[in-house]
Amino acid sequence: MRLTTRTKRSKQLIRLVRPNHVSANNLVYPLFIREDGKKIEIPSIKGQKYLSLEDVVETCNETLDLGIPAVMIFGLLKTKDSDGSVALQKHGFHTKIFKKLKKEFGDDLALISNVCLCDFTANESCVYMEKGKVLHEKTAEMLGKIAVVHAEAGADVVAPAAMADGQVRHIRSALDGEGFDDIPVMSYIKTDSCLFKPFFKAVTSSKVPRKGVDSSKFRADIINEKMFMQKVDLDVGEGADIIIVKPALTNLDLILRVKQKYPTIPIAAFQVSGEYAMIKSPSEKGLLSEKACLMETLSSIKRAGADIILTYYALEAAKVLKDRN
Ligand SMILES: [Zn+2]
Repeated sequence: MRLTTRTKRSKQLIRLVRPNHVSANNLVYPLFIREDGKKIEIPSIKGQKYLSLEDVVETCNETLDLGIPAVMIFGLLKTKDSDGSVALQKHGFHTKIFKKLKKEFGDDLALISNVCLCDFTANESCVYMEKGKVLHEKTAEMLGKIAVVHAEAGADVVAPAAMADGQVRHIRSALDGEGFDDIPVMSYIKTDSCLFKPFFKAVTSSKVPRKGVDSSKFRADIINEKMFMQKVDLDVGEGADIIIVKPALTNLDLILRVKQKYPTIPIAAFQVSGEYAMIKSPSEKGLLSEKACLMETLSSIKRAGADIILTYYALEAAKVLKDRN
C-alpha cells in the first residue's frame, strides 16, 4: 500500500528527511537604536524595545549567545533635515553605532545597515520626489554616499530600502570607489503592503507617520508579479549580492519565483511588523499558540525558498530551536 507519511514515523526520521529547516544561523534580528537614549517598549511592536547606544551591546550579546549571526541596524535620529544630508555627517549617530558594535564584536556579529532616506529626511520619504515624480538617480546617488559612510564606520552589509531604480548600481560603484569592494549589497524588494504600518509608527516621531508620502510610487504592485520580477532582474543585474523579499507571508510565491530564477543568489525574507502583530495579538488573547504559529510561519517562509529570515521574533525563534535540540 502506498502511504505518504511513513517518514513521519519518528521525530528522528522527520529530522532526517526535512529539507528546509529553520536554523538560528539564518536569522537576522532587527534593532531600533534611539539617539535620544529612551529605553521603552515599542508601542506598535509589542514585546520589542527601543535600545540606546549604551544597551545595544547587551542585546547583541544575547543575540550572539543564541547563535544568531547578524543584526539589522535602524538608527533613530533626534533631528532629521529636509534633504537628509544629516546622513553624511562625519560623526553622525549611525557612525557611532557601527563603530561601537564593530569595536565590541569585530567579525563575530555581522552588522547589516538599513540604507534609506526616510531615516534622515524630515518628511520621512524614502526617495526624493518632485511634483509627484520619483527622482530615482538623485535618490540612488545619495544612497551610495550613505552606504560609504556606513561602510567606513563598520557596516558589514548595506541594505538599500528605498526601491529607487539604479540604487544597487550607485551603491556598488560608490563602495568600490572607496575601497569597499568586499561589502555586499542586500537589496530590498517590497510590495505595497498595509503590514508595514506598525514599523512606520515605530520609527516616526510624528503622530501621523509618513504624512503625504506616497510609497506606492516606488513599491511593486502587490497583484503584479511581473513588476516585482522586473525589479529583481534590475537589482540582480546591477550586482545585488542578496535579495530581500518584503513582506514575507504575503509574498511566499514571489520568494519561490526569485529562488527558481536565481538559484545562486541568496534570498532573504523580512517577516515584517504587521506579520509580527498578526501572531502577537491573537496569541495574547489565547487564540493561538505564539511559539507554534511563529515556527509554522518561519518554516513556510523557509520552504518557499528563503535562505535568510529577518524577524523581530529572532530571539524567540532561536530559543525555541535551542530547546528542541
Ligand atoms: Zn525608507
